[in-house]
Amino acid sequence: MSLPLHERSLGQLAAGLRAREFSSRELATHYLGRIARLDPGLNSLVTTCAEDALAAADAADARLARGDGGPLTGLPLIHKDIFCTQGVRTSCGSRMLDTFVAPYDATVVARLKAAGTVMLGKANMDEFAMGSSNETSWYGPVRNPWDPDRVPGGSSGGSAAAVAARLAPVATGTDTGGSIRQPAALCGLTGIKPTYGRVSRWGMIAFASSLDQGGPLARSAQDAALVLQAVAGYDPHDSTSVDAPVPEYAATLDDGIAGLRVGLPKEYFGEGLDPKVRHSVETAIAELRRLGAQTVEISLANTALAVPTYYVVAPAECSSNLARYDGVRYGHRCADPKDLSDLYERSRAEGFGAEVKRRILIGTYVLSAGYYDAYYLKAQQLRQLISEDFRRAFAEVDVIAGPTSPTTAFRLGEKAGDPVTMYLSDIYTIAANLAGLPAMSLPAEPVGGLPVGLQLMGNYFAEARLLNVAHRLQEATDWHRRVPPGCE
Ligand code: GLN
Repeated sequence: MSLPLHERSLGQLAAGLRAREFSSRELATHYLGRIARLDPGLNSLVTTCAEDALAAADAADARLARGDGGPLTGLPLIHKDIFCTQGVRTSCGSRMLDTFVAPYDATVVARLKAAGTVMLGKANMDEFAMGSSNETSWYGPVRNPWDPDRVPGGSSGGSAAAVAARLAPVATGTDTGGSIRQPAALCGLTGIKPTYGRVSRWGMIAFASSLDQGGPLARSAQDAALVLQAVAGYDPHDSTSVDAPVPEYAATLDDGIAGLRVGLPKEYFGEGLDPKVRHSVETAIAELRRLGAQTVEISLANTALAVPTYYVVAPAECSSNLARYDGVRYGHRCADPKDLSDLYERSRAEGFGAEVKRRILIGTYVLSAGYYDAYYLKAQQLRQLISEDFRRAFAEVDVIAGPTSPTTAFRLGEKAGDPVTMYLSDIYTIAANLAGLPAMSLPAEPVGGLPVGLQLMGNYFAEARLLNVAHRLQEATDWHRRVPPGCE
């Protein structure tokens, strides 16, 4: 019996299109039907683009009929609503941009469009990507398909919930402090945050520019590799994008991992880690050993400083980046302003939610004249120490493995009233952003019916290695094939 379309990998779908087993229009229609049926219970999408999707699918079908196109031509996807999409609303999960229609495509979007992908819609997200639970969105929370009373993680929670529920075979996300990896972990997906500079940030609405990176949320390392291949590489529009060749990720997926040195940071297995999550992560690591990897205990001594460092650096950059939303050029504008100050004040007061305001206040404070040295400068120094921990570690090991998140998906509302507890859910993901390193999350064995994420971190530009290790693990296990109840 052949697999239902929504259970097929990107490679299998591409083969089916080429064999004329189904058309891109039929594929898009199949997924749009699932969106109509399942998304009302999830709220994973802010915008659905049925008409545009069918037009793009027809164009892809014409391309395929001519024998043109590449490995992604005709395949549907969803973009996180942080990526500018020409002619389509780009809200960034905020009232501030509720009516903003982007005048151009982000580079990530443009490259995937040129590759012939079909955009089904735009994914819900935490407001301006600030959050770990998708509860800060102006459009309301997203629900986790594994348990609708639980969060999908954030900030790419809509992307993760949509892919987990099989509303699209893949989605884009962004990761400033864990927002690809943590929702991937909580929803049972494979997501990769590339090395800073590997993927262009042009047209990706800025949160914290020195930390933000885009990447895919997929159902396997193989699918993630295909999408990363299409988006990675130099972009003259982004001065921080790196002009270095992009390796052929698919070519090394099957490489053996015998002798691979895997570092296990002792700080990632200590207090605060749910024992059941720990057991599941250790089971996945044992599987890596069975495949020939050697594990060694390492220390990332400044791990405990990652969260406080991030919560100075990220708000500082956010307060600067979000200054542009002033009600003048674009975004929400208050009604009947008395004067210019009133316009600024009320537009921002009305346009931003509580978490965004909290970050702007913290950021403005740590950058202010009397506090810059004590907070911002200190945080930059700590950032350097955190990077040096990794530099020392990667002199000894090829990859670092550990949990992605200290717990499985928590309940909606459980941490929403307590920002510090919420911030601590990113304790294992933030350091990779501060150091600019590539990192991914892939499913380990679920516990209590909920997914668990294994995190792999690599040296700069070692995406191919991470994808290879993840792929080998996925060839040997079936944790990534589990389907949320009701999404079969
Ligand atoms: N949860 C972190 C935050 O709230 C990270 C978010 C992200 O990676 N975009 O800032």
